[in-house]
Order: sequence, then C-alpha cells, then structure tokens
Amino acid sequence: MGKTNGLFFKTEKENLLLGVKHNVSISNGILYKRRKHMDQVLFFDTTCRDGKQAPGNNHGPADTVRIAHQAAALGINIFEAGFAVSSELDFQSVSRVAKEVDGIVPCSLARASTKDIEAAARALEGALVSPRIHTFIATSDIHMEHKLQMSRDQVLEKVADSVRFARTFVDDVEWSAEDAMRSDFEFLKLAVREAIFAGARTVNVPDTVGYLMPGMIREKVSQLIAEVPEINEYGVVVSVHCHDDLDCATANTLAGIEGGARQVECTINGIGERAGNTHYAPVVMALSLHKDYFGVTHSINTQAIGDTARLLSSVLQKPVPSNLPVVGENVFAHGSGIHQHGVSGNTQTYEIMTPDSVGWKAEGFPLSSQSGRRGLSERLRLLGYELGENELRVVYDRFESYATGRSLVSNNELHMLMQQHRCGVDHAAHRIVLDDISYAKVGDVVGASVTLCYGGVMHHGNGRGAGPFAAAKQALSEALRACDVSLADISLVHYDLEKGEGGADAIGQAHITVQSETMTGFGYAENVDTVLASVQAYVQAVNHLLLVGIPKDQVDV
Ligand code: MN
Repeated sequence: MGKTNGLFFKTEKENLLLGVKHNVSISNGILYKRRKHMDQVLFFDTTCRDGKQAPGNNHGPADTVRIAHQAAALGINIFEAGFAVSSELDFQSVSRVAKEVDGIVPCSLARASTKDIEAAARALEGALVSPRIHTFIATSDIHMEHKLQMSRDQVLEKVADSVRFARTFVDDVEWSAEDAMRSDFEFLKLAVREAIFAGARTVNVPDTVGYLMPGMIREKVSQLIAEVPEINEYGVVVSVHCHDDLDCATANTLAGIEGGARQVECTINGIGERAGNTHYAPVVMALSLHKDYFGVTHSINTQAIGDTARLLSSVLQKPVPSNLPVVGENVFAHGSGIHQHGVSGNTQTYEIMTPDSVGWKAEGFPLSSQSGRRGLSERLRLLGYELGENELRVVYDRFESYATGRSLVSNNELHMLMQQHRCGVDHAAHRIVLDDISYAKVGDVVGASVTLCYGGVMHHGNGRGAGPFAAAKQALSEALRACDVSLADISLVHYDLEKGEGGADAIGQAHITVQSETMTGFGYAENVDTVLASVQAYVQAVNHLLLVGIPKDQVDV
C-alpha cells in the first residue's frame, strides 16, 4: 500500500473516534431532520458566488442580503453568499447573510488553504443558522498538472487536511472536486473517500466546464454512490453542479438526481460563469411535474419563483430573458397577444404549468428599449391606461427615447412617462408650472426661493437648509401651500438622483415619488443643474398626483 492508503487509514481511524459526535450533530441540524429516506433534493443557491463570477454581476453585501431573504422565502436550503477570502465585499456579504437571514444555511466558499478556511469561518461567526463551509480542490489531471502543479498524493493530502481543518470550525462541511466530471474516476473515488473520512457530509462533483451529457452524469453519480460505500454508510449527500456550455445544465442536473444526487447547485435565472449555471426553476418544476418519475421531494415554494426572477433582474438591472424557461415574459404568452387564455378553451392545450403556480405576472416584467409598441400598449393596459393608436404612437416615441441607454424601464417609470405625456397634453391649463428657482449659499446655510405659476397666478416660497436641495424643497413646499392648502399634505417618499458620465457637464437625472393620503405621483427630470432637475421632478410628481394620480396600493415605492 502506498502513501495514499496510509493517509486514508490514518484519517479513517481518527474519524471513527470522531464519528459519533459528527453523526449526532449532523442529524440534529435543521436541514437533515426532515430527510428520513434521502428522498428530498436540497437546493443549494450560488447566485451570489458562481453567479457573481459572470461579468457585470457586481451585487454587493446589501443586495446579497436581499437575494438571500428572497431565497429563504423561496425555500432554498443552502445559500452560498460569497467567497469570503476573495474580497472585503465578499466577506461582508457572507457575514451579513449569516447574521441577518434566518431559515437558510449560510455558506462560504474556500480553497483548500488555512487562510481561505479561516476567512470563511470568521465570516460565518455568529450565524443565525448552523453554517456551512464549502471547500474545494481540483481533481482532474489537467487542473492538477497545469493549475495546482501538484501530484495526486499531494492533492489527496490537501483534501483531508482542508476538510478536517474546516470541521474544527463547523459541523457542516461540503467538499467539491473541481472538474470532477473530467477527473480520472478511480482517483475521484479516492478523493471522495478522503473527504468523507475527514468529515465532509456533502460531496459535490461538479461539471465545472459544462462538458458532459446527461446519460454520462447519471452514470457517474450512480457509479460513485455504488463504488464508494462510505457515501451511504455516513449518510453523505452527493451534489451536482452543472454549467450550461452545451445547453445541458438542466438536463444534467436532473440526470444527476436520477443517478442519486440529493443536492443540486443552481442559480436564480441561470446566471453564472460563461454560459451560466443551472437555472433552479426548471429543475424544480420538472421534479414537481414528474413526481412519480423522480420519486423525490423538494422544499421550494413554486409560487415565489416569479418574484425571485424579478428581484434578481432589478438587482442586476438586467432583463429576465423573455424565453427563459418558467419565468420569461413569453413563457405564458401565446401567439401574438399576451396571455390569450381561452383561445383553445383549455389552457392545458399549450401549457404544462399555470402562470399562478410559478408566480408569473404579465405586468411584473420591466420593459426594455427592445420592447415593441404592442408590448408597451399591453403593459400600459395592465397598468390601467387604455391608449388609442394615435396616442400610442406619441407615447411610444417618448418611451423609446427614455428607454434608450437604460437597461430596464419599471412600471413606476411607465406611470411617470404617462404623466409627462398626459399632463402636457390634456391638462396644460391646470398644472403647476415651475417659473423660477434661485439658491445661494449664505454663510453655512443655503437659502432658496421658488416661484410657481398655478391658475395664472404666481406663488412664491422661501426656504433654508444645509444643502441646496433641502433649501429648495422647503421653498417649494411653501410655494405649493400658497397655491393650494391641500398641497401641504403631499410628502416626498422617494428621491433618487443619478449623475451621468461627463464630469462637470454630466446630466443629473432626478426621480421623485410623492404621496398624499391615498394617491401616489411620479416625477422625472434631467438637467446639468441637479438642484433644478430635482425641483422640476418634484413639481412633475405633484402634477402627476393631482392630475393623473395612482392609488397608493397600486405602486411599489
Ligand atoms: Mn461553477
């Protein structure tokens, strides 16, 4: 027996001593309690780790926490919040999810090094739910030779050391064999055993480069379970992690489940490196629709799928691809119009699932500059605006110029565009017009004055504040009160100012939402003078509330 087996037995002996403690602590974990016969597939979300490795996905700690709360509501079991050692932001993401999000197992990725594992453990300190450390090392010859420059024996030693070290911090350790699916199978089995004897209770065999076909994955997973008896002996969960390079990620993940995998690593909307990771939603729906075939359960609340897709889309400012299975805008839109149910008399003629069952809402999708006139018209109808052909043409031009250069146009922005359009066209005589604004710094404070024209009469207001917008806002309130006492009840509930590129000449874009007791109004304006843009947007929002007005409960602020 060579060195490999020596290590193997040494580890086994140590673990036999630790075994009782491990089994007790693990069977007490909240996740595993329900899993009597290994018939539940656990969903492991890596949207904020692997998903973040795709270009343009730079969600920080606050967004990671929002996504984690949604993942918990969705019923995801384990949430990989980041790679703690890789950056301060990732560390914060892991730490905040661990401390703030209940009902989900927080997890950090770590390479097979003490530095990585210590960082992961530190980030997971104080977690609300028993946390997981996910450590990995490559096991394929190509990775070991060219990336790690390590021999097989050295890699096996690292596997044991890293898992054992991670177990000194947490009970729940997942070990991944990077590039497992291209690894020599006999060597992969040795490495999996090392990890199990060192205390890993989840073993992940990723198709890191998205290379294999479904039948191959099914075969590999079932062979691994059959030929490494310790997997069953120790109640180890085998996991798959697939990539979509050959458009097989969903099929491969389902094949992995058929082969015996009971954890699947996925992302929301399938984001991830290169062609992306497995999109969890079609996997969930396949398991639900073919319950008898797969014979497994899951904890996903399918009605939260739609909201989850839209949340990620708004965090990343990227539209949900319209043909993305289960959640895309076209998925339940038959033929030319959206949602023409009843065309055939029975929705099952064309649908294998219902929009309600996956929380799909026609009006939930932000539009983009690619949206056509029909799409805009349909959306506006759902928001309560019926437009004739001529009006639609005018509004579409306004929409197109607004949408160009933006990734998404939200429902609130559509309300705003309608307000700009209708206030300008129909209500010119009744609207409040900003006639003049001036502001100046006097000592430590800024003084501002605003003049509004309302019903043909000029009304003035003065204000003071620490900054120009605060001063202008006070002056504006006074002027509005002078126009009409009832305007005093309108309050600012959202203010967002973005500065474009171009230094001193950059255009400031102000978005404002105001509310009265029952109604909401939106305003938008752009100007190089950001104070002017803000006040213009404010006045627009007030006009919108007065002239068009949207009932408060119909908008998201
Ligand atoms: Mn990956």
